[in-house]
Amino acid sequence: MTAKRLAAAVVVLPLAWTGWVQAGMPTVTHDGRAYVELTRVAASLQKTKLDASAVSTRARLRTGDRVVTLTRNWAQVLVDGKPVLLDAPVRVKRGVWLVPESFVSRVVPALTRVAGDTRVAAVAAVEITLEDVRVRSYPSFTRIVVETSAPIGHRIETSGPREARIRLTGLSGGAHAEEPQDGLIAEVRLERAGADGLLRVVFEGAAGTIRATMLVDPPRLVLDVARPVEPARSGRERLTPLRTIVLDAGHGGHDSGAMGPTGLMEKDLVLDVTRRVGKLVEERLGIKVRFTRDADHFVTLRDRTSFANRERADLFVSIHANAHRETATDGVETYFLSSEATDSAARQVAAAENGVVQLESAAGRGNGGKTDIVRMILWDLAQSEFQMESSRLAEVVHDSMTQSLRISNRGVKQAGFYVLGGAAMPAILIEIGFVTNPREEKRLKDTRYRDEIARAILTGLTEYKRNWDERTRTP
Ligand SMILES: [Zn+2]
Repeated sequence: MTAKRLAAAVVVLPLAWTGWVQAGMPTVTHDGRAYVELTRVAASLQKTKLDASAVSTRARLRTGDRVVTLTRNWAQVLVDGKPVLLDAPVRVKRGVWLVPESFVSRVVPALTRVAGDTRVAAVAAVEITLEDVRVRSYPSFTRIVVETSAPIGHRIETSGPREARIRLTGLSGGAHAEEPQDGLIAEVRLERAGADGLLRVVFEGAAGTIRATMLVDPPRLVLDVARPVEPARSGRERLTPLRTIVLDAGHGGHDSGAMGPTGLMEKDLVLDVTRRVGKLVEERLGIKVRFTRDADHFVTLRDRTSFANRERADLFVSIHANAHRETATDGVETYFLSSEATDSAARQVAAAENGVVQLESAAGRGNGGKTDIVRMILWDLAQSEFQMESSRLAEVVHDSMTQSLRISNRGVKQAGFYVLGGAAMPAILIEIGFVTNPREEKRLKDTRYRDEIARAILTGLTEYKRNWDERTRTP
């Protein structure tokens, strides 16, 4: 079996394997250490002959003119007669020869490092670089995705009360630090540790349990950190009253959003409308309102929902205005998140709003703007847990708007909005009208009309809250 075939054959991580070393070699845990099957190591090398009988005390690996002799239960191996000490003894388990991971990192490169030799070990040849690190918070877990240029080996080294450390074997270059502060994880930091990368996950309080999955296309390690059980918030139907709502005015700062024919900018319009909604909600509903932005500045999409999660908001309402190439297009539409868009028009709206992600990566982290938005959305398959509740919220708010605003009803739709994806609560996005339609732009500039919009949204939220209160009262 060639190394290439081997890598293709092992795609999903079966339970018995606990990690990977480079080039798609799965590891098994023995005595708390990571081991690799000797046959897999041999398969990754060219011109190699392995003599490893289940019953003998010694095994011999011949690659080209080099010879490695291994002894059962010994940590010392002989390379061309010279001793090399490994960090753990060679084992034979159920007839299978196992070598510690250090054999792959120490001995194998030595075998291939011969002047003029054309043998290329896949193990040593692959340089793995960091592509992206993504952290998203959900009600019951936080997902950390480490995307790399090739499949990477990993090992969870310590999982103490305050911190978990995940070693990423042979990860060269790339650092990352962020503070999700989502109630579970205080900090995620990727740093160098010799030839490897070390991902440190610092907990805010009690440690979460980590489940690791290797995925391909693109190669990525997905770490799901489960929140320690917290009975109050884990019930399907909430028992708590509606307390906090996060209102999210779209765009801001260098991202102006859609633009009307006479220059009305979406970012200014929606900030003003959002403020009006917030004032009404606080006065009339007695719900605490938090704004993701209260001035003309840029906020990343991720920060918007992280903020809502930190605030433990019960609802997330994002307010936007629409644009269309055909200036006659008008009306209001309300979205809730789904991995499947309702129609291609809905997909286009999502694509336009999600375009901000590109602005973010260009302005912010500068990792080459290689962010594939669709993939990012599909990757976490939305907040399905809240899909029912989000659609209910979308319906009532949308009904209220179309009934009171004398405006075309474009319907409640589903689309993959990045801004809704990270919210750990029912979340909707309202497109209050088309700034690209001259008649609508004119109306949208009028403060009385903005008040009308705000009142319509309030009426919807009031209806939703009434329904919520009824349900929380039912035992
Ligand atoms: Zn927008």
